[in-house]
Amino acid sequence: MKNEQFLRNDQFNFIKRQIQRLVNGHGTVNDAHVLNALESLSIEKVLDLFTELSDAQKEFLNKMVEIEDKESAEKYIGDLEQYIIPFNPPSEQKLKKLFPKVKKLKLPTEGLGYNKMTYLSYDDLGTKKRYIITPSQKGMIGLSGIFEETNVKQICAICNRLTNVGMFLTKTKGETVGTYTKKGNYICRDAEDCNHHLVGLDKMYEFVSNVK
Ligand SMILES: [Zn+2]
Repeated sequence: MKNEQFLRNDQFNFIKRQIQRLVNGHGTVNDAHVLNALESLSIEKVLDLFTELSDAQKEFLNKMVEIEDKESAEKYIGDLEQYIIPFNPPSEQKLKKLFPKVKKLKLPTEGLGYNKMTYLSYDDLGTKKRYIITPSQKGMIGLSGIFEETNVKQICAICNRLTNVGMFLTKTKGETVGTYTKKGNYICRDAEDCNHHLVGLDKMYEFVSNVK
């Protein structure tokens, strides 16, 4: 099988979640029929993520149903990781296009796990601004807003989990010229953790269209 990357980060997370369910199932259920049904459902959900798969990719994904315990799960997930399409960080030029109004924006280039990343998030501590580069239905886009830390747990608008969040405050142009509408969205304080829990792009798209 060719090592062609075909998994988005969120799809990888989704499959990992299904695998977790399989492991839990095998650990708690003895009934073979119930386990069979669980396996069929899991693989169906996973295959549903894709519109196009090669035979080899299908074969690899189908092997998921052989997972019975933590060890086999870990091995499979390890194999799965090589198929993740890494995040492609923007060039300096592209960055200027994404944030035309921002001067001298320097994104961190080290210590980022591009392999398990749907969106890139950067906090500028000086201005308290958060910059987000994310796929949208119109391609890669840049979002920026004030990021205010909070002490409450709320549902993150991007990964849809109840977790430690902050308020992402943005200004969008109003209908009348010169007016602005302020919008606030709770999103994960820890963007890396958020990326690791994204299991689809619907919420992200919703968030983008709400903010833009
Ligand atoms: Zn989140």
